[in-house]
Amino acid sequence: AGAAGLAGCRADFPVFRHHPGLVFLDSAASTQKPQQIIDAIAEFYAGGYANIHRGAYRLSAQATDQFEAVRERAAQFFKAPAAESIIFTRNATEAVNLVAYSWGLRNLNAGDVVLVSEMEHHANLVPWHLVTGLRGARVEAVRMTPEGRLDLEDYAQKLQLPNLKLVALQHISNALGTIHPAKQLVDMAHRHGKPILLDGAQAAPHMPLNLSELGADFYVLSAHKMLGPSGVGLLIAQPQHLRDMPPFLGGGDMIREVYTDRSTYADLPNRFEAGTPAIAEVVGFGAALAYLEALGMENIHAHESELFQYAQGQLNLIEGVDLYGPESSSEHSERAGVLSFNVRGAHAHDVAGFLDEANICVRAGHHCAQPLMRALDVVSTARASFYVYNTREDVDALARELRDIATFFGENL
Ligand code: PMP
Repeated sequence: AGAAGLAGCRADFPVFRHHPGLVFLDSAASTQKPQQIIDAIAEFYAGGYANIHRGAYRLSAQATDQFEAVRERAAQFFKAPAAESIIFTRNATEAVNLVAYSWGLRNLNAGDVVLVSEMEHHANLVPWHLVTGLRGARVEAVRMTPEGRLDLEDYAQKLQLPNLKLVALQHISNALGTIHPAKQLVDMAHRHGKPILLDGAQAAPHMPLNLSELGADFYVLSAHKMLGPSGVGLLIAQPQHLRDMPPFLGGGDMIREVYTDRSTYADLPNRFEAGTPAIAEVVGFGAALAYLEALGMENIHAHESELFQYAQGQLNLIEGVDLYGPESSSEHSERAGVLSFNVRGAHAHDVAGFLDEANICVRAGHHCAQPLMRALDVVSTARASFYVYNTREDVDALARELRDIATFFGENL
């Protein structure tokens, strides 16, 4: 039902004209771009480009206004606690690193614990390994249940760990599509007086967010997974945390006064935005947010849920195909538009290779989630993921090819 408003949007994506018959099922890695975003970037370069925050001439002031307007738009789009606590980074990964190095180096001490989960993307693991390593602290992980959910009993127990300083969990799993109960995760952490970072790289593109209501201390995401250009991410934080945090990267734009031997730093948000940012890409991200707003995040979520249900039903019918992640029904949707699977007897890379020959793009591998793969006891999976431009015909094409692939490998088992 929610798909009605999205029905025409596929025509906005030129990639499908350049590659007729393309079945693009890898939006969890990065999404395709509509013409409106491509145009916004081209128009900015052609019609009003200059460096920002330099203010000496009108062209720069206009570029600054356009750049800062995206911060305001993002604050409204995500219902952020404050526009000044939205920091532009390169991507979600850099946003986690910002928190790890700035907050972590200041607040973690020998013996302290950062609590992650077995399901995390490496982007929400490795920065914590690096920084706890520097501080003599350590990382503990909440377990995954056999169905692919966070084990909330284990979470409740680990929240009681002495010396726990920070919780860092994903909102939606990129490998399995599990939608975690974010509000509950935040409230549980706060009941124990612990700050929590949520990795929203897979949630922000796919559902309406109200970050003021959610109350996470830190929330990170990437523009390229939500129709925007590569090279832009966001850290959205509670302002009081950022006010207490030292800068992460140093350089131009983030200072108040600089001497040869010391410097003082600008207020929010500039303190965390050293150097010339991805100006045109941020402007492009603004156009992506406008585009998503026009489609409606509720409609997008409904469209993906519907496609997911349909795909799960189709793939469940194929002998020799195993699906991973919690079963989802329409009454109880705890899955985003991500479907992880294997064909019995085949390596996921071979499955992806066969699908590619049929013009179907899926990802194969460990999905930057090696601990999760270990917990599932598989080396890799193939993953189909959906976005606004996907249709039931895309799912039908996937199911048709998988039937052939499963038959082929079934006969050769
Ligand atoms: N977290 C999750 C859950 C992701 O899916 C991804 C992207 N695969 C990231 C973090 C990192 O995003 P980026 O590579 O854009 O920094």
